[in-house]
Amino acid sequence: KKCINQIQRTRYLNAYITITEETAMEQALRADIRLSTGKPLGPLDGIPFSVKDNFCTDNIETTCASNMLKGYVPPFNATVVQKLLDQGAVLVGKTNLDEFAMGSGSADGVFGPVRNPWSYATQYREQSKEDPDSDWTITGGSSGGSAAAVASLSSFLALGSDTGGSTRNPGSLCGVVALKPSYGLLSRHGLIPLVNSMDVPGIMTRSVHDAATVLRILQGRDERDSTTVQAPNTPPSLPEHFDIRDICVGIPKEYHAPGLSKDTLAQWSRVAAMFEQAGARVQEVSLPHTQHSIVCYHVLCCCEVASNMARFDGLEYGHRSAVDSSTDAMYATTRHEGFNNVVRRRILSGNYFLLKSNYERYFVKAQQIRRLITEDFKTVFRSGIDVLLTPTTLSDAARYSDFIQEDNRTRSAQEDVFTQPVNMAGVPAVTVPTALSPRGLPIGLQLIGQTLQDWKLLTVAHWME
Ligand code: GLN
Repeated sequence: KKCINQIQRTRYLNAYITITEETAMEQALRADIRLSTGKPLGPLDGIPFSVKDNFCTDNIETTCASNMLKGYVPPFNATVVQKLLDQGAVLVGKTNLDEFAMGSGSADGVFGPVRNPWSYATQYREQSKEDPDSDWTITGGSSGGSAAAVASLSSFLALGSDTGGSTRNPGSLCGVVALKPSYGLLSRHGLIPLVNSMDVPGIMTRSVHDAATVLRILQGRDERDSTTVQAPNTPPSLPEHFDIRDICVGIPKEYHAPGLSKDTLAQWSRVAAMFEQAGARVQEVSLPHTQHSIVCYHVLCCCEVASNMARFDGLEYGHRSAVDSSTDAMYATTRHEGFNNVVRRRILSGNYFLLKSNYERYFVKAQQIRRLITEDFKTVFRSGIDVLLTPTTLSDAARYSDFIQEDNRTRSAQEDVFTQPVNMAGVPAVTVPTALSPRGLPIGLQLIGQTLQDWKLLTVAHWME
């Protein structure tokens, strides 16, 4: 009840697309009976959670914040959603995002932008000259609704998706813990795809400990997703006694990227020094192909988008245009009415890169560069590094009015420089809130680990928290 009330009180954040109050209350009642008889299903029994609106939910509208899927009601739950429900967790709502998870601001969905709860907190407001209705900051994205839900305390945990940073970016800008697990550790079944070879369900929580609890429940092989792997054995909780002196932390020198704010840099240095003082080995490392990652990601992303989006033709899912003069006319107008400009631009670019005459030059080349980026991580980890410490974003959250300026859009594409290489390599990473900037907005730092060493990554993150 408290979470539902909090959702209502914070409607101005625009964090939720659908609120599932009725079913939530029924689920909560059942959990209450189990808890009062001392027979909880597990650690998440009765815990309110929310889910990004690009995960299918049985009998609950799933829109991807797009006109294309308005009114689409899936007949099944995504595996990760089902696993939470099976544990007695209570679904309170579906959260807002950029259309089809394409973006880094949660400003490009058909239901309007999500507002960052921190831009309504006292410290930011005291310094801000303008009225709260125009002077607010973005949440980051594309899982901005999920991040705002956890940050504004209307959900204890939220699912996001992470293709190029979409869980970690808003997690960092909203001051919550956000985990992008190793590729293949969590099932993508029922997650409406953006880039199949990079998508992973992401976990957002208030603490690293909570993220570990959720990871334990969600991980593992799923016969409905052939890219999933058997989960490594993980203990029931993160170790209480852990010696940070056994850990070697790498600082990638290429991550001193153009546009990195001085506040974020200061936090990065402060936390690196903290590791060193506690006895961890901290050492500069090199990931030489980082500079190519944004371009490489965009070629691969557009190619997979062009292919993925072909399924939205007005026949099978969601929107269908009223124009029925011919099948082709119906396809074309459905897609014209259904997709926003961001989605259309990516479909067009992807089809261009995949033309017979361009395929080698763009798609194959990008695949080769992706391999080099992956090798960079492997080399560093092979040299004895346990985790990499990096910024998550270039700076704290931008004001919405600045973010939507056309010339800032290119900058926003650069915003993923620290997160996209992780998806291309398939390794796990987590962002942990570390401080507030002088503006009173959160700054998070990212830890990157080795494939399938998510537990070790969280152990170090827990120490850092
Ligand atoms: N910002 C990136 C993009 O627009 C990443 C999105 C994501 O991770 N879903 O593609």
